[in-house]
Amino acid sequence: MRYVSTRGQAPELGFADVLLAGLASDGGLYVPAEWPLLPPRHELDAAQSYAETAHRVIAPFVGDDVEPGALADMCADAYATFRHPAVVPLVQIGERQWVAELFHGPTLSFKDVALQLVGRLFDHVLDRRRERVTIVGATSGDTGSAAIEAVRGCAHIDVVVLFPHGGPSEVQRRQMTTVVAPNVHAVAVDGTFDDCQDLVKAMFNDAPFRERLRLSAVNSINWARVMAQVVYHVVAARTLSAPISTCVPTGNFGNIFAGWVARRMGAPIDDLVVASNANDILTRYVNDDDMTIAPVVSTLSPSMDIQVSSNFERMLWVMNDGNGALTAEQQLRFRQLGRLVTPPEARQRWLDGAFRAGRAGDDEVLDEIRRVHAETGMFVDPHTATGTLVARRLASPHPTVTMATAHPAKFPDAVERATGQRPPLPDDLADLYDRPERVERVPNDLAVVEDLVTAAVAATA
Ligand SMILES: *Cc1c(COP(=O)(O)O)cnc(C)c1O
Repeated sequence: MRYVSTRGQAPELGFADVLLAGLASDGGLYVPAEWPLLPPRHELDAAQSYAETAHRVIAPFVGDDVEPGALADMCADAYATFRHPAVVPLVQIGERQWVAELFHGPTLSFKDVALQLVGRLFDHVLDRRRERVTIVGATSGDTGSAAIEAVRGCAHIDVVVLFPHGGPSEVQRRQMTTVVAPNVHAVAVDGTFDDCQDLVKAMFNDAPFRERLRLSAVNSINWARVMAQVVYHVVAARTLSAPISTCVPTGNFGNIFAGWVARRMGAPIDDLVVASNANDILTRYVNDDDMTIAPVVSTLSPSMDIQVSSNFERMLWVMNDGNGALTAEQQLRFRQLGRLVTPPEARQRWLDGAFRAGRAGDDEVLDEIRRVHAETGMFVDPHTATGTLVARRLASPHPTVTMATAHPAKFPDAVERATGQRPPLPDDLADLYDRPERVERVPNDLAVVEDLVTAAVAATA
C-alpha cells in the first residue's frame, strides 16, 4: 500500500514511514493512494474477537511493512488492555437507538482504541530500525492522556503533550499529569486548543528543529489512528447486520472520517451524522455550505471545542478526486479568509446522502444526559449525549449507532448537574485524585515551547 499527501507535493511513502512521519513534508496529511475493500464476508465471520477483526480490516493498509504475525500479536495485546471482553460493546438505549461504547480502554476515551495499537506499531517499527523519535501532540483533553498511556515507558519514544491551560476536565488533566515515566512531558499552554495545534504545526514546519528532535505525531492527523478507528465502524455495522446510520460526536473529523472509510470499503453504513456542540463549523458546512471560522466557545464537551478540524483535509482531498494542488490551494485560502470555499458540485457529490449534521447546546445536552439516565439507568458523558440527541432528532429509517466517545466518569460534573449523581471511576483509577501532578506551564510562544521540548528530550536521551 502506497500513501500520498493531500497536498500532492510530498514523496509517496509506505505504511511504516507514514506512521513515523505523522504530517507530510508539504504540510498535508497522508492518505492511501487507493481504498481497499473489506475482506470477504467469510473471512470477517471467521474472526473470533475484536482483535482478530481488527487485524483483518487493517492488514491491507499496513501491507508488507509489518509481518502478519507481528501485526496480529499487536492487535491482540492492544485490545487486551480493555476492560470489556467485547472491547467495543453495542448497547441499546432506545427502540432504534444504540451506542457503541468506545471508552473501555486505559484512559476511558475512545482514543485508546486507536492509540493502544498505534503505540505498539511505533515501538515495533522503531525497534526494527533502531531509531528514536519525539512525539509531540496538541490535545483538548483526551488525545493527550491516551497518547501518554500508549507510549509511557517506551525506550524509543519521548512524548510531549500540549494542552490549553484550564481546558481539559480535572480527570483528563490528571490522567496526563500524574503518569510517572521519564519519557512523558505534559505542558499547559496559555491559549486555546487551536493555539496548541498551531504550535505543533509550527514545530513541524521548523525543519531543523523537526530533524534534530525527529518529531513525530500521534494526534488525529496520523493516518494510523484513522486506520485503527475504521475497525469499530465495521464491527458496529456487522453486529446489527443491517444498514445502519452512524452518529459521531465530532471535533477534528477523525472519528467520522474513519466511518466514511469503513463505508467506502463496503461496510453497510447508510449515512454518517456529524454531531456538533456550539462549535458547529462542520454542521454549518454540511447543512449550509458555511465553513466560516468562529471564535472557539467553551462547552461541556471540551474535546469538541474546535473550529479548524484538521482531518477534514482528508475529506477535502476525496471531494477533490485526489487533486493535491487544489486541496493545498483551498486550505491556504481557508486559513487566509477564515472561510472554506469549495465548488458547489463537488460538495453536493460528496454529501450525496452520505452525510447529515446537527448541533446541540449545553442545556440540551444536560437534558439529554438526564433523559437517557431516566429511561435506561445509564450515564452518558456530554460528548456522547451530543451524539444521542442529534441522532434522535435526525431520525433515520435505519438503526442508528452513536459513537460513545468518553466514559461518563471523565465528565462527572456535567453528569452530576444533569442527574444528581456522580458516576464512579473504574477501580483501577479510583485513586487518581490523590496522585501527585507533574506539569510545565508556558506562554503561547513557539520559541519557549521549542526550548522546553529540547531540554525535556535531552534529559531522557
Ligand atoms: C477526541 C474526542 C472527540 C472528537 O473526535 P474527533 O476524531 O476529533 O472528531 C469526541 N469526543 C471525545 C470524548 C473525544 O475525546
